[in-house]
Amino acid sequence: MKHIEIVVPCYNEEPCIRPLYEEVKKVFAGISDYSWSLLYVNDGSTDGTLRELEQLKESEGDKVQYISFARNFGKESAIYAGLKNSSGDMVVLMDADLQHPPAIVPEMIKGIEEGYDCCGARRVSRKGEPVIRSAFSRMFYGTINHMTEMNLVQGGSDYRMMTRQMVDSILLLTERERFSKGIMSWVGFETKWIPYENVERLAGKSKWNFFGLVKYALSGFIAFATAPLRAVIYFGSIIVFFAVIYAVYLVYEAIRYPENNGSGFGTIVLLILFFGGVLITLLGVIGEYIARIYMELKHRPIYIEKINTLKDK
Ligand code: UDP
Ligand code: MG
Repeated sequence: MKHIEIVVPCYNEEPCIRPLYEEVKKVFAGISDYSWSLLYVNDGSTDGTLRELEQLKESEGDKVQYISFARNFGKESAIYAGLKNSSGDMVVLMDADLQHPPAIVPEMIKGIEEGYDCCGARRVSRKGEPVIRSAFSRMFYGTINHMTEMNLVQGGSDYRMMTRQMVDSILLLTERERFSKGIMSWVGFETKWIPYENVERLAGKSKWNFFGLVKYALSGFIAFATAPLRAVIYFGSIIVFFAVIYAVYLVYEAIRYPENNGSGFGTIVLLILFFGGVLITLLGVIGEYIARIYMELKHRPIYIEKINTLKDK
């Protein structure tokens, strides 16, 4: 029998630990073809999360596993630790706060049985979310898809079920600065998207504030985009181009009206323009090299092999 392992990053989620377990248990009561278990990753919580996990494991035994961090390392680290410590044939990433409704797990299973490697949940409504947050989120997806090789789906959450093959591929990317959404898109494979309605978190507060999200978005750009650096090169080149035109104009003026060519003002503007442009261009070139060094340092695999799935046959 195939095993489905549910990885749950938790940071100060004391009131959610048990309700999530109950909810998942209820869903799997209706699924007989797969065994299941939960792997909680306690991301250095400062409330009673760990105690709650111990108690849950005490009473539920094998169905519940957990690992615990020495301090708060962030959700990305928790996701990595969870995937690394998982062994299920299929792995589900799920938030602790029940914002990722376990009720759609059966649909995800169906998707995997159809032959998809990954089945993700896509949020179609953003009820209960500040308007400005949704607007920024839309902007983020728009630009990041435009500027990087990633293709992120609007509203695509990291609530997904993945096959072992895909999980192992994700673990091949050992970069420290992790941007999971990007990584999951980078490795390839076929994803089926299941729409779901946004739900409010069960208890507690979101760990994200606005600046946290801006930082997250920026780290997404920096991890995947070299486009901004290329833009710098173009910007510098354009300035040099105008400097050259300006130089031609100055020479023309000097020949045409030799009598009022005394101030040297034009020459100074020209020099500033020209050298400014050259410097900016060179900075862009250096930036491009740094971007490449950065990408090389990540030691990403050169390719990822896909072993035939049902769907290809
Ligand atoms: N989380 C975590 N480490 C952190 C912050 C969050 O493991 O440093 C977990 C958190 O416990 C939850 C999930 O990541 O299970 C999503 O966090 P949250 O609900 O705060 O984010 P939102 O749903 O508002 O995007
Ligand atoms: Mg949440």
